[in-house]
Amino acid sequence: MSIPGLRNLVNGAFVSAKEGGLLDNLGPATGEIIARIPRSTKADVDAAVAAAKTALPAWAKTPVAERAALLDRVADRLEARLDELAALESRDTGKPVSLAKSLDIPRAIANFRFFADLVRTQPGESSAMADALNYTHRAPAGVCALITPWNLPLYLLSWKTAPALAMGNTIVAKPSELTPMTASVLAEILMEAGCPSGVFNLVHGLGAEAGDALVSHPDVALVSFTGGTATGAKVAATAAPQFKKLSLELGGKNPSLVFADCDFDKTVQGVIRSAFLNQGQICLCGSRILVERPLHDRFVDALLEELKAWKVGDPADPATKIGATISADHREKVEGYLKLAMDEGGTIRCGGKRPGLPAPFDGGFFLEPTVITGLNATCRAATEEIFGPVVTVHPFDTEEEALRIANGTKYGLAASVWTSDLKRAHRVSQALESGMVWVNTWLHRDLRVPFGGVKASGVGREGGRYSLEFFSEAKNICIHLGGPA
Ligand code: NAD
Repeated sequence: MSIPGLRNLVNGAFVSAKEGGLLDNLGPATGEIIARIPRSTKADVDAAVAAAKTALPAWAKTPVAERAALLDRVADRLEARLDELAALESRDTGKPVSLAKSLDIPRAIANFRFFADLVRTQPGESSAMADALNYTHRAPAGVCALITPWNLPLYLLSWKTAPALAMGNTIVAKPSELTPMTASVLAEILMEAGCPSGVFNLVHGLGAEAGDALVSHPDVALVSFTGGTATGAKVAATAAPQFKKLSLELGGKNPSLVFADCDFDKTVQGVIRSAFLNQGQICLCGSRILVERPLHDRFVDALLEELKAWKVGDPADPATKIGATISADHREKVEGYLKLAMDEGGTIRCGGKRPGLPAPFDGGFFLEPTVITGLNATCRAATEEIFGPVVTVHPFDTEEEALRIANGTKYGLAASVWTSDLKRAHRVSQALESGMVWVNTWLHRDLRVPFGGVKASGVGREGGRYSLEFFSEAKNICIHLGGPA
């Protein structure tokens, strides 16, 4: 089978990298090369940014209704290709097709529809004085750099692209070099749907090359970055001296707090989903489970019992719950944490191994879902982001201790609280150092609500009106009404 070659989208044309050559893109489920992508350099980024800059004035002036209509047409086209996109996302990431079909692609479609509606109905702001009227004029921020990770490729790119276009910005997107496939289809769909040349540009390549060239480009006004905390620090160091608008959605080590008065069966199901969805490779995954001591042993037994039935392997099999991790390097990193957890005194209660799978999946980057107990809650394996199918479980005796453990990492992205005590639910949620808290649920998302983290999990908020605000510049205009001076 011939290996497809992806191309950049610059000024409405699909083009190869000017000088950087090609990168191999591996399928995580088999380890085979599934595509080749341009290894873009500064020259490609310069061309894409120039196209975005040229296209900006006309797109900024395009009526909101027309911009929103483009987003709706994109959503329709994504929906018409849902099955194909789900299969492609699964091939590129190793995740189960069933997950891409039920979560990734539907969410991408919903993002385009949601921001089309939101921008159409966005209320104006005005403040009247006795002798003057203030109103807020929202102008596009300018050329936006959208940089996305490999775990939810189309989902996260659509989360940035839709509000950026809605507010009249032009875009240069740089998807993860590990998962370029659905971004390329989105570029095609945008062109088919009538997106003017230069309004959306796509540059493939490595972070340190294409990504850095994009963030440092003087004509890029805004950077929306989702990825790891260490990369986020580099992006911030490059962007801040140029005073670019910056949103950083970074890593997490999210606690699930399980109190003894929870609804046991629903909590086991909810906490397992939170720990292992997408092989534990979602920034919001609950990777540290804190359980009130009287429930601890029973809870761990229930986790182990449930996981026995989880199928690991072929992502196309509807019965598969755990697909492949993203790469050989990433699996080794996760395995390094398993070894560290052993050194730190932990016990692997299930998983911890590469499953024996038949060809072609014997070449894939699979790892069994893993539960570790017995670790001190302050050790490295319990406080650093592992980003794989691995959870640590820790007992606690009091609400204060649960909060101390939960807040005892450098991260602060998301948390879940499982209890039937309403007062405690509010009290604990408010005391958690976290951008988002779910009570008796997880990843229950309303697209209007603020999304983002505190501490090393990020800077800024996106979602709903927060995205529209971020992807625009608010200007106050004060009109004096005349009359006595
Ligand atoms: P990463 O930081 O390695 O890469 C993210 C993106 O940044 C990629 O497109 C990469 O090419 C690019 N990049 C790398 N170096 C760069 C540089 N110097 N300048 C500009 N761009 C650069 O992250 P990843 O491994 O792809 O994704 C996993 C991480 O993302 C995890 O830490 C996870 O928690 C985080 N994440 C956070 C959220 C959130 O919303 N907070 C969502 C998903 C993933």
